[in-house]
Amino acid sequence: MQTRITSLFGIQVPIIQAGMIWCSGWELASAVSNAGGLGIIGAGSMYPNVLRDQIRKCKAATSKPFAVNIPLLYPNIEEHMNTIVEEGVKIVFTSAGNPATWTAWLKERGLMVVHVIANTKFALKCEAAGVDAIVAEGFEAGGHNGREETTTLVLIPQIVQAVKIPVIAAGGIGNGAQMAACFALGADGVQVGSRFIATPESSAHQAFKDRIITSAEGDTKLSLKTLTPVRLLRNQFAEQIQAAEAAGESKEKLAEMLGRGRAKKGMFEGDLEEGELEVGQVSSLIREIKPAAEIVQELIEDCKKAIQRSLKLLAE
Ligand code: NDP
Repeated sequence: MQTRITSLFGIQVPIIQAGMIWCSGWELASAVSNAGGLGIIGAGSMYPNVLRDQIRKCKAATSKPFAVNIPLLYPNIEEHMNTIVEEGVKIVFTSAGNPATWTAWLKERGLMVVHVIANTKFALKCEAAGVDAIVAEGFEAGGHNGREETTTLVLIPQIVQAVKIPVIAAGGIGNGAQMAACFALGADGVQVGSRFIATPESSAHQAFKDRIITSAEGDTKLSLKTLTPVRLLRNQFAEQIQAAEAAGESKEKLAEMLGRGRAKKGMFEGDLEEGELEVGQVSSLIREIKPAAEIVQELIEDCKKAIQRSLKLLAE
């Protein structure tokens, strides 16, 4: 399955594994890359020395292309940027910030830059900043999210119409039929996050993986819209913060309730009540923990089946 995205990155299948804090280290990234997709190390939760070690381990585990995701909100961002250049990383996915800030610097150093957006205004900014591709992430996505609440079904055609560079669809994609739908909307590739948390290779805590495969429809909600919007799985912390938001609590009060290290507590340490559990709506369709390579293979096979089913409509 060849698209503008497979040619751009030199990969076999147009599947990108999302960079996810606390969940996507070198083991997951290298497994996805070895399976023919593009694996991504999520650097947002890593101290600079940890990121360097993770990149080295990833290079040792795969000879295939892989990337690093750096959320632009990261506190010591210069250190992360220098680390990826020094370690010879070829592709960086930036997110949660202005694409104009780092794109030129990274491109001057020979890196390919992809930026994550959730609306047309930022897609145009990305193109103007010279990024190589865009991840357009809809409302269904886990973790950081846009304020507009535009669903993937509406967002992708809007972005495809607005820009000439390749578009990677994200948000709500966990199976091959959803992947096929994104191609029908004009995407050149898909980014899959939540489905890859429920793998043996993900660095997420086992309790979080088990919680995902038992989650139900309606269990995730876009929260903290007045601070940084983030989709969370229902638990004690999420219910408390959602109630405080609904009661009109100030930004300061919400930030105080959030405190520091909630994401680590939930996703990495496995505190299912007090921690932040960042996952997408698609979690209610994920029923099994399975190896990343199997997921890549299944996505491709089921995507082809879905396309064939659609083609039959023309014959009837
Ligand atoms: P907090 O401020 O609540 O906590 C910081 C966390 O990041 C701590 O757990 C800390 O680990 C870890 N960390 C890693 N490097 C550093 C550093 N240089 N300085 C301070 N802390 C560091 O932030 P969050 O956990 O909510 O978010 C962390 C990062 O992840 C942010 O950059 C944020 O933008 C990004 N993020 C990305 C998301 C995505 O979807 N890609 C989703 C949500 C957040 P320790 O506890 O060991 O000190």
